[in-house]
Amino acid sequence: MTVNSNTCRTIKVVNPRYASYDELAVYHTRQYLDYVLRRSEGAEGMNEQDDLGLEDDCHVFPSLEKYVPLVAGASLIAAQTLMRGFADVAIAWDGGRHHAQKARASGFCYVADCVLAILALKRAPLIPLTTHTSDEPPLVDGYRPAPKTRKPRIMYLDLDLHFSDGVSHAFHNASLASRGSSQVLTLSIHHAAPGFFPVSPLSGLPPSPRPLFQAPPQDPYTLSLPLYPGYGNATLASVWPLVEGVRDAFAPDYIVLQCGVDALAGDKCAVGGWSLGGVDEGDADEKAAMDIDERPPLVAGSLGWCVDRVVNHWGIKTLLLGGGGYNHPNAARAYAYLTSIALNRPLPLSTHIPDHTFFPAYAPSFILDVPPSTMQDTNTDTYLQEVDAAFSAAIATLRERRKVTEAA
Ligand SMILES: [Zn+2]
Repeated sequence: MTVNSNTCRTIKVVNPRYASYDELAVYHTRQYLDYVLRRSEGAEGMNEQDDLGLEDDCHVFPSLEKYVPLVAGASLIAAQTLMRGFADVAIAWDGGRHHAQKARASGFCYVADCVLAILALKRAPLIPLTTHTSDEPPLVDGYRPAPKTRKPRIMYLDLDLHFSDGVSHAFHNASLASRGSSQVLTLSIHHAAPGFFPVSPLSGLPPSPRPLFQAPPQDPYTLSLPLYPGYGNATLASVWPLVEGVRDAFAPDYIVLQCGVDALAGDKCAVGGWSLGGVDEGDADEKAAMDIDERPPLVAGSLGWCVDRVVNHWGIKTLLLGGGGYNHPNAARAYAYLTSIALNRPLPLSTHIPDHTFFPAYAPSFILDVPPSTMQDTNTDTYLQEVDAAFSAAIATLRERRKVTEAA
């Protein structure tokens, strides 16, 4: 599904296609693909299904061999609509499988569609570098040289409750710790706690400079913003300027926004207290209201507000992907609402759920809204200051790296 845009967005549904074996093999191993696509029955004498992560929450199910290329194909065709200029926002809500690994399924994710889409965007047309005085380069010996270009930059932003281990590990490059630049930056805003899935060495805060302790450098293009239980609108509003600081420092040409909705209030994970959007009666101050007339105001920091910031204010081509969400009626509410945000015509949160087969599941409110929870947000001011210091240092590094790269 894609959304075309000028000043007024319209929506156009593009049928997904099956990704080819070769398209999937751009990232996944052949051993993994041969198994999930039913091309092989596995090597004799080894428990291949377990080795490939196809157990527990990633069990083999009928039609898995169709599901894997279809999810990847939807995200790839959405990426292609951006690259070819057919749309400035593209949506694949079935995508966003951010735990899938090169050779393993993990966390309900069988195919690394986020990684495949980013790899496709890396091969998007080169970006012309404009000169200070004119877009036209000067004549050299009577000839006009081809304008200088650079490769496109892609920023992956992940709003799911869980750390984006599959994507972050795919693009993490330890050799970037001290110098160099990357075409891809990943930033995951997520809950982290000892033992909370997925456990990863990359899921902590970036090292922050401290007078008596020099933290080891790490790849500044692999960023993680862990949050404590109960995080909701106020905490997201507090850290959002850091997200936009990273965007400014990296200056991406494409955004891949993973919109997992399992941090919403009411999710079975019961960790996040996030709301979908709309007016929070207890916090309807001027800062919270959007600056566009005739639109329902969005509470600063809500999921709808964050997505609105990206698709309606950043002015960068954006691929919207889905993600986790274990309260199914709330997930359906969220993706319907986020689609209206992508059209820049947000539905009122008081919209009644239309009558359909699963209507009873929307009790007791039977409206679109997912209000914030009453859970206590345990992210203290002290912790948020620590986050601020760590990200300010990361942003300074990114800015410096870009200056060096573009001067070369
Ligand atoms: Zn999740």
